[in-house]
Amino acid sequence: MECVAKEQEEQEQSSCQRSILNKGVDMDLYCTDNDCYRAGAKIIKVEYLIVHSPAVYPTIIRVRSGAGGGWYKRWNKPGVEKLVHGFIDDTGVYNFAPETMACWHIGNNYGNARTIGYELCELSSAGEFAKVWDNAVSRYAALCKKYRLGAERILGHCEAHDKKIASNHSDPEPYFKRFGKSMEDFRADAKKHIDGAQPGRMTAGCGRYAAGGVAGAGRGK
Ligand SMILES: [Zn+2]
Repeated sequence: MECVAKEQEEQEQSSCQRSILNKGVDMDLYCTDNDCYRAGAKIIKVEYLIVHSPAVYPTIIRVRSGAGGGWYKRWNKPGVEKLVHGFIDDTGVYNFAPETMACWHIGNNYGNARTIGYELCELSSAGEFAKVWDNAVSRYAALCKKYRLGAERILGHCEAHDKKIASNHSDPEPYFKRFGKSMEDFRADAKKHIDGAQPGRMTAGCGRYAAGGVAGAGRGK
């Protein structure tokens, strides 16, 4: 019952097992009509967490709005073979497939069976980007904890290519660069969450949220 914390009242679907640092939604929005989803391949072992961005900027597409009606509408249909575990925008995290599913997102069976990946929607303003960033950092940190991975296991798609487990794409660096950020910054922020070093933010489980940024109270356990 601790899950019904007042800070979470704005969440349409709270997920108590996940670390949520902002008030965005965390929603399962599975792409059950997508070809990859219907194929239903399974993850063998989660070894890396991959960060993507769709590389369509300046076209603005959120999960459920924007060009083409949003990413969910664009990907949840027959004939679309690519899939990620979800998309993240400034309104929250939307899971397109279960974490146990091997989604087609880095171009080969080996990598897809060993990675979880989300797409970070490319938005316009610094304020919007900050929300996407916070939502994403929170999700990847939670995944690190769940699968007992260090933050160094979070890779941009381009970095995964450098490790020879992914196709040759440059995302998400151009998007991050536009706001003066890098994958190094992303891992550093995720590590802070993993270590529970962010006062005033939920870092572990429910009912541990330190409202109003009470210094030193953010450590979950
Ligand atoms: Zn990518």
